Amino acid sequence: MKKTKKAKVVFLLLFFSAVISSVYFFYFKKTDPKVALNYVLKNNPVESNCIENLVFERISNNSIKLIFNDSLDGEVKEYNIMRASMDKKSEWTKLSTIQSDNKVDKKNYEYEDKFESNGPTQFRYRIDICKKDDNNIVRGNETIASNVLVCLDPGHFNGKTPVTGDKTYNYCEGSYTIKIGLELRDLLLKKYGISSKMTRDSEHITIDNLTDQELDGKKIILRGEVSKGCDMFFSLHTNANGENANNAKTNEQAKNITKTLLLMNKLSMSNERAIKVANNIGKEVSKVNYNFKLSTTPNFQTASVNNLKEWTGPYNDALDQIGSVCYRHNPMGNDYYDVLKGSNNVNVPGMIIEHGFHTVVEMRKCAAENDLYKHWALADAKGIAIGFGFAKENDNDDKK
Ligand SMILES: [Zn+2]
Repeated sequence: MKKTKKAKVVFLLLFFSAVISSVYFFYFKKTDPKVALNYVLKNNPVESNCIENLVFERISNNSIKLIFNDSLDGEVKEYNIMRASMDKKSEWTKLSTIQSDNKVDKKNYEYEDKFESNGPTQFRYRIDICKKDDNNIVRGNETIASNVLVCLDPGHFNGKTPVTGDKTYNYCEGSYTIKIGLELRDLLLKKYGISSKMTRDSEHITIDNLTDQELDGKKIILRGEVSKGCDMFFSLHTNANGENANNAKTNEQAKNITKTLLLMNKLSMSNERAIKVANNIGKEVSKVNYNFKLSTTPNFQTASVNNLKEWTGPYNDALDQIGSVCYRHNPMGNDYYDVLKGSNNVNVPGMIIEHGFHTVVEMRKCAAENDLYKHWALADAKGIAIGFGFAKENDNDDKK
């Protein structure tokens, strides 16, 4: 009797500790962004641990820092920093070896990799461990890293420019652009090793003590200036048209008004890379819109350096025109949009991306029902990656 009672108690204790630790694990995993630095135990008892999540920090246009934590120090003799080119068949090179200090004390190991050039450079990295007991080498998981840093500006702020009238599907541009922005940030990092600086990563935006409407009303130029030090600037939006354009209700336009527009700042008009990025974002987003039946054509008119279309109101609202890479200047010949002027001020080629028209009912419906932002973000990411030479134009790779 006593024995079974004891066994029961032991069983219950084991059961509850398992429950508590798994709850803790999931909680920890969901709430701590640093969890990316944690190794996850694999089920396989032989060679059970490997470095699964290696993160990096882009330091400058010719160096990155690899970071991993020390939770395996107890069983690891040394860590080998490995690097390979993006070609899957390429050999791995050992860059350095770091000795384990044998103490698991929540310290991070870091390694700075300096590149030979300042141009867009992308590598695969992993940390292989050499185990103390049997000298076995266990390969780590791969992480893609690059020296490219872009600035993402999810347009407006939550609640700004809600659609009014019938069949709104609760669409609000300022609340939707943050979804595109966060998804794009994550995709760029995961798929291409491209880092992002965000003008906002939540519902609201504050720069220089100015928040939301106060900022956009007085000094929207500051949003563009956040891009200082970045390789390119992207302001993410959905488009609208003039009041009652095309003799239809403002927010019930025919879907052939849908066209993808890239509005370039002055620097980017003469920047070959920015033009390539814009052309490819335009092509990819136009395909998404067509596939979701938000537009009547997948076509997009590309531009070349200093040879862009001028944006006009009639072109914006036209029902028989395709999307393009444009510019819009004020009478002084400067950028019409202050957000673009801002990025120009800090020497960063930049563009506004008008993904689609939220004045089209089908677009709002699709946004509400089909995670449209994920598809747009994927299209933006691919266009950016192609422009920086990290993906090919006819690459049909839509893997997450
Ligand atoms: Zn907008």
